[in-house]
Amino acid sequence: MSINASDIEFDKNHIWHPYTSMSRPLTCYPVTSASGVELVLADGRKLVDGMSSWWATIHGYNHQLLNEAAKEQLSKMSHVMFGGITHLPAINLCRILVEITPSPLECVFLADSGSVAVEVSLKMALQYWQARGQKKTRFLALRNGYHGDTFGAMSVSDPENSMHKLYHGHLTPHLFADAPQTKFEEEWDESDIQPFLSLVNDNADDIAAVILEPIVQGAGGMRFYHPEYLRRVRNICTQKQILLIADEIATGFGRTGKLFACEHADISPDIICLGKGITGGYMTLSAAITTREVAETISNGEAGCFMHGPTFMGNPLACAIACANLSLLAENNWQQQVANIEAQLKLELTPLKQKKSVADVRVLGAIGVVETKVPVNVQLVQQKFVEHGVWIRPFGKLIYLMPPYIIETHQLSRLTNAIASILD
Ligand SMILES: *Cc1c(COP(=O)(O)O)cnc(C)c1O
Repeated sequence: MSINASDIEFDKNHIWHPYTSMSRPLTCYPVTSASGVELVLADGRKLVDGMSSWWATIHGYNHQLLNEAAKEQLSKMSHVMFGGITHLPAINLCRILVEITPSPLECVFLADSGSVAVEVSLKMALQYWQARGQKKTRFLALRNGYHGDTFGAMSVSDPENSMHKLYHGHLTPHLFADAPQTKFEEEWDESDIQPFLSLVNDNADDIAAVILEPIVQGAGGMRFYHPEYLRRVRNICTQKQILLIADEIATGFGRTGKLFACEHADISPDIICLGKGITGGYMTLSAAITTREVAETISNGEAGCFMHGPTFMGNPLACAIACANLSLLAENNWQQQVANIEAQLKLELTPLKQKKSVADVRVLGAIGVVETKVPVNVQLVQQKFVEHGVWIRPFGKLIYLMPPYIIETHQLSRLTNAIASILD
């Protein structure tokens, strides 16, 4: 059955899309299938995917091994409750996660989306200090940060971008340090840590945890900052008895050129949040992983356990696919894949800095960003990209690429060429 005009009309009238008006919706393009790095539109056109469906589809669409993992698990059970029950897909996945994440992280909480993993990590930090009998209930986050769309996650996301004023009175007011200014490849400037440091000095006794996106601030501006900033934050948190939560939902699993962005600074957090790429874009799944010390402190507290348990916790189908996805990372030699993408993005995007409409071009790992001087007209630019045979979804002043790691040289060139011609 193929999609027709009345289907599209129904979609327009009845279905919410992300950050999209119901009364004046932007065009939605019907996709009927996808494989490798190509999306197939209903009219038969094929688009080279530059988005990995928002950081998730790291090995491309319709992957034979991931399909097989899904089918095999489906034939056993797609879901069973996790309360009082366990199963190999979850055990195997958590084994891998404990092994590949920075070493003191070893107790895995499986959740169902990135935002929920963030909620879980915030709740863990609160329960941790409660268990230690300390009144530490505030969070310190960075401006330009993004941690998801649920209430807790919004409350630690950039106050302007996450539209705190829309939900005034419902978001706990937390502390925000100015975003780091020293860029990833620049020389470290010691004054960059001052805003963070003075907030900590003024509020250390109240702060339960610092939450940040290590190295790459994603949806809040696609900014790449200096690893020394992260090292300093880690040291300050340790000195001042503040937990550090690393939100690696976007940066995890190789995207920035390290398996986890924390590795750029050689640090490890007390809690890490993972999501997006974890199932290779097949299913929604996330994890919050803690040190043993955090897990035991919470468990020895008044409540006797951590107070959270989603219905679909540890979903076997998602876990089985995640296992296959993570073994593909190693098999495919992700380091080489990401390094190749980085080199090509640098080569092909950097010259765009010369264009009048461009404010900045930056590349880190398999992420390429072209920042324009004025916000782009998404409706118009999206249509032009589709005419060029590529799928790139800009927001604000940001036209960015984060393609599947399996993308080939000529396909990546189609993406960068399309951006170049849009800018003209
Ligand atoms: C996408 C994202 C989230 C939220 O994940 P969802 O699965 O959309 O809920 C949280 N933090 C970061 C850094 C993200 O990029």
